[in-house]
Amino acid sequence: MTFRTGFLALATFALLLAQNDPDWTKPFPPHLIAGNIYYVGSKALASYLIVTPRGNILINSNLESSVPQIRESIQKLGFQFADTKILLISHAHFDHCAGSAKIKQLTGAKYMVMDADVPEIEAGGKGNFQYGNSATSLYPPSKVDRTLHDGDQVKLGDTVLIAHLTAGHTKGCTTWTTKVGGQNVVIVGSPNVNPGYKLVNNTLYPQIAKDYEHTFSVLKSLPCDIFLGAHGGYYDMEEKFARIKDGANPFVDPRGYAAYVADREQAFRVELAKQSGK
Ligand SMILES: [Zn+2]
Repeated sequence: MTFRTGFLALATFALLLAQNDPDWTKPFPPHLIAGNIYYVGSKALASYLIVTPRGNILINSNLESSVPQIRESIQKLGFQFADTKILLISHAHFDHCAGSAKIKQLTGAKYMVMDADVPEIEAGGKGNFQYGNSATSLYPPSKVDRTLHDGDQVKLGDTVLIAHLTAGHTKGCTTWTTKVGGQNVVIVGSPNVNPGYKLVNNTLYPQIAKDYEHTFSVLKSLPCDIFLGAHGGYYDMEEKFARIKDGANPFVDPRGYAAYVADREQAFRVELAKQSGK
């Protein structure tokens, strides 16, 4: 990397931190994934609506500014935003949970969050091991109605979701699984090591590397037919969306899931080795 490209990359990164990725707020056509699961997120921030006869479950509230977009996507699909009974998240980072307080207020949905992410959600992001109290990563605090633990079930109507603790990216990062039409659905919480994450001698999160190790063993053990995640980019959402009308359901992608998990594990191991001086 030359000085100039290095500088430009750095400047772009700083700009992204300050302004967020423009694709986070770009609208995207809401669509059926499979069974009763729909995509209602933006171009780059995934949000899922799971429709049941007893009301709906929403996974990820995204940014504060995403709320009207999510509501519009739900309405375009012919469902009611007000029928949102349960609100879940992938993990306690503002790009997945900043809209939660507003959605709770507008719909009265019960907010259910994995135990280790609850303190941060209720403190509006304060106390995060990496981002601390930096203004750009904070979000409106929200009361959690039900604290989830690893393996807990969330039930509504005939839908059962299972909360798998896949920590490291955040302390309570959650991978959701469910079944539709006999197929296993996995919504990956995030296996990513963000820039600046300390995997070694992290005083604020001493077990971080162990948690990532556990996360990869969990992700590798989950049966997966339909591969989804906190960002559409995890599973090539746009490319698959373009193939919706081609016949076979493009979201059925067990090999893509295995390849993604293997790739992310490799990235984690490279970073861990680098930080361990190996
Ligand atoms: Zn995150």
